[in-house]
Amino acid sequence: MTYTPVDDAFDSSITARPGAADYPGLDDWRTLPVKQQPTWQEHRGYSAAIAELSKVPPLVFAGEVDILRSRLAAAAQGEAFLLQGGDCAETFDDATADKISARVKTILQMAVVLTYGASLPVIKMGRMAGQFAKPRSSNDETRSGVTLPAYRGDMVNGYDFTPESREHDPARMVRAYHTSASTLNLIRAFTQGGFADLRLVHHWNKGFTANPAHSRYESLAREIDRAVRFMDACGTDFEALKRVEFFASHEALLLDYERALTRIDSRTGFPYDTSAHFLWIGERTRDLDSAHVDFLSKVRNPIGVKLGPNTKPEDALALIDKLDPEREPGRLTFITRMGAQNIREKLPPLVERVTASGAKVLWVTDPMHGNTVTSPNGYKTRNFDDVMDEVRGFFEVHNALGTFPGGLHVEMTGDDVAECLGGADPVDQEAFVEGYESVCDPRLNHMQSLEMAFLVAGALSR
Ligand code: PEP
Ligand code: MN
Repeated sequence: MTYTPVDDAFDSSITARPGAADYPGLDDWRTLPVKQQPTWQEHRGYSAAIAELSKVPPLVFAGEVDILRSRLAAAAQGEAFLLQGGDCAETFDDATADKISARVKTILQMAVVLTYGASLPVIKMGRMAGQFAKPRSSNDETRSGVTLPAYRGDMVNGYDFTPESREHDPARMVRAYHTSASTLNLIRAFTQGGFADLRLVHHWNKGFTANPAHSRYESLAREIDRAVRFMDACGTDFEALKRVEFFASHEALLLDYERALTRIDSRTGFPYDTSAHFLWIGERTRDLDSAHVDFLSKVRNPIGVKLGPNTKPEDALALIDKLDPEREPGRLTFITRMGAQNIREKLPPLVERVTASGAKVLWVTDPMHGNTVTSPNGYKTRNFDDVMDEVRGFFEVHNALGTFPGGLHVEMTGDDVAECLGGADPVDQEAFVEGYESVCDPRLNHMQSLEMAFLVAGALSR
């Protein structure tokens, strides 16, 4: 699977035509209530940053976005599975070749295991190349009696706890664009240049099962090994399997940035937000009459919405009416993040009502955000067992209702960090002191991510 050249993909010219006259309704969001935005409109660099972003080349092509929509449509119909993973918050400093490649590698490793388990194509998507802005529960942070603006992601301000660093600086949007461009460039090189060879990815996975802690996954690993050797014996064209599609996504939080990167595609005449293939609206900004929902209703990209445990079926139906009035499979993904305690009770009424309405949304589980706790020694963490319990609950609910559990959305990294508790080779809270690197939410480390893939594959293949 490679990016099939779309007719005139390059002629889609996606020309920069900034300004309100772009497309009817594209600026309506400016008149609506908007949450979680930086206070930088008065900053002297604001207009220059917006003007620059309005003319830079797109990060993704409209044709690729259309391909993704068709892949997600297949998933919504039970014919593919979505794997979406990456940092809670990317940082400029960590946009290094080593860290980016480790994350892509881990997602590819997980995808091979899931492809086998589901016997379905797995759509690979990073929370990468743009995940630089965070919603926060408080505008401020106080440390030792000093109060400063909260860290809102590298696209807004710095993590260092100083007044200079915490100032909202619009020039950071331009840096986020360039960092996204170089990240995406590396991702494209890895996934198109031979790095994604199925045999190589499978070989990396052998390193995982070589750890005695993971011996219980050996039989599945052996099955995959036999399948790869069988394919080889059949004369499979592994050359063709050296390239994989890989899509970029992030939370569309900063509407200044998303609007400035929106272009009219001359092929179709529709606006595309060219900052990423897929954009989602977070749990805190998904009010029906909000600026976020309005803006994303106007772009052609596939859109996700996070749904927490307080979501009412009426909210979900109203979001469908607004974001997917045509009921187009692939357009809308609901990413549920209920918490392991809630999912078996809260998810069924949503799924039932949405299904009864005739809408074809893709259901994905985010088993991270409803399971955040503070460790006794003071770190924001998640228990691997809770995360897995929510994943299991998600499958149980969909299996019981006859709907398709279409994907997995996880905060993970390719590095050997210590941020989430547990796993077969367990991380304990003492390890956080040296190994906790996230500037926001805790991520599954490399081994925990693979373990999750093996567990989910085991459940899928049953
Ligand atoms: C996130 O995905 O990092 C996030 C903030 O999620 P949610 O909107 O589900 O809280
Ligand atoms: Mn997060």
